[in-house]
Amino acid sequence: MARYLEAKCQLCRRCGDKLMLKGNRCLTPKCVMERKHKTVVSSRGRRKRISEHGVQLIEKQKARYTYGLFERQFKRFYAESARQPGITGDNLKVMLERRLDNVAYRLGFADSRAQARQLVLHGHIMVNGHRVNVPSCLINEGDTVACREASIKREYFKKLAEEIKSKTIPSWLILDREKLVGQVVAMPIPDETIAKFDGKSIVEYYSR
Ligand code: SF4
Repeated sequence: MARYLEAKCQLCRRCGDKLMLKGNRCLTPKCVMERKHKTVVSSRGRRKRISEHGVQLIEKQKARYTYGLFERQFKRFYAESARQPGITGDNLKVMLERRLDNVAYRLGFADSRAQARQLVLHGHIMVNGHRVNVPSCLINEGDTVACREASIKREYFKKLAEEIKSKTIPSWLILDREKLVGQVVAMPIPDETIAKFDGKSIVEYYSR
């Protein structure tokens, strides 16, 4: 499966925002964006002027980098969102959130979407009782997403069983923290997306 191999922090720098691509490391002072913010404060306050199109492009890139998609994949998501009834920007957010790697991440099975993608690719995640190793698989309301029973014996999942107790999950998901079994109880809510991007700007970008 294609994925982004460019340095993650570089993608944040390019968008000028913390995209939280490295899990817990993003919450530490090691985050280059934290250091960068300090530099900006101490500079002469001169800011580069960005055109309207530039702003729209940045918002699109933020969404793309956050979910680890190539332009072609992202455009497919956008086209599908535009075909659906309702607000395209919100439809896009919902579709991106429904990706299996994202659902595994939002359930707390991994610290980042990239890590969740690895869990899926290596066959550690089950959907409705079946092993699914396709990170882009779209999850529906009522589906269960669980860690594979055989995988739970591994060191990673033993550690996860402890860590997951303190993790918060969005309202559209429920989780059995003992068994590491989650369920999608509703469609994702656009306002509950933790990804930082403006859906309206993305619509404007592709409508040019
Ligand atoms: Fe790197 Fe995470 Fe900071 Fe982005 S938010 S710059 S990925 S540490």
